[in-house]
Amino acid sequence: MGVFPWWERALLHLLPGHCPLCLGRPRYGMPWCAACFAALPRNRAACLGCAEPLPDGARGLHCSRCSSAPLLMSSSSAPLVFCDEIAWLVRRFKFEGDLRAGRLLVELALAVLIESDERDWSLRFDGLLAVPSDAVRVRERGFDHADWLARRFARRVGMPLLRARRLRAAGSQRGLGRRARQRNLTDVFSLSTPPPARVLLFDDVMTTGATFEALALCCFDAGCLEVAALALARTPRSLPIRR
Ligand SMILES: [Zn+2]
Ligand SMILES: [Zn+2]
Repeated sequence: MGVFPWWERALLHLLPGHCPLCLGRPRYGMPWCAACFAALPRNRAACLGCAEPLPDGARGLHCSRCSSAPLLMSSSSAPLVFCDEIAWLVRRFKFEGDLRAGRLLVELALAVLIESDERDWSLRFDGLLAVPSDAVRVRERGFDHADWLARRFARRVGMPLLRARRLRAAGSQRGLGRRARQRNLTDVFSLSTPPPARVLLFDDVMTTGATFEALALCCFDAGCLEVAALALARTPRSLPIRR
């Protein structure tokens, strides 16, 4: 995948009929070229609990943190790693309102999920629940990026979209005792309608999983039997936690 200065990448992004990442010839029937798709940072060996990228041989395992203190969700997955072109696309979409970058993110994530044979979301879950954005951030950006992505993803996989409201921010769970963890996750969200039995939580980028856990707790309190999480991308362990 080529590395271009921002202005050159912005220019490439505007040229239709070319791969939006390198200006190469798109693959037949796809908006991107074969080389860029092959070079995507796939989250192949991810922790089953928190989707954190693990060393290659660790596929199908839990990380040490999830082994000792499992998250509330039954599983978490994220097809891509939040780095390189994926981080660039997320930032372009989220902070510059570039909807083409948003569409591309959803399509790339879906293509990687299908490649790893993860396509039966609508059979395994009754609805998709997007992590609601902070109201102040939505006002600053002029749109609710997570809701926009969730609507598009839900439509593409044929799942009903569920709604929740954010009441306050959820702090990091790291280093907290059991009681403090529980307090930290309580009353962060409220659901607009009673949820179905099996809910898939959705967000653009997953970091520690604390926000997902707060929303999962809200779902379990409302009677859900199974709650799992899906993000388009997962931050690698080395990146600072910043959203
Ligand atoms: Zn390309
Ligand atoms: Zn983990």
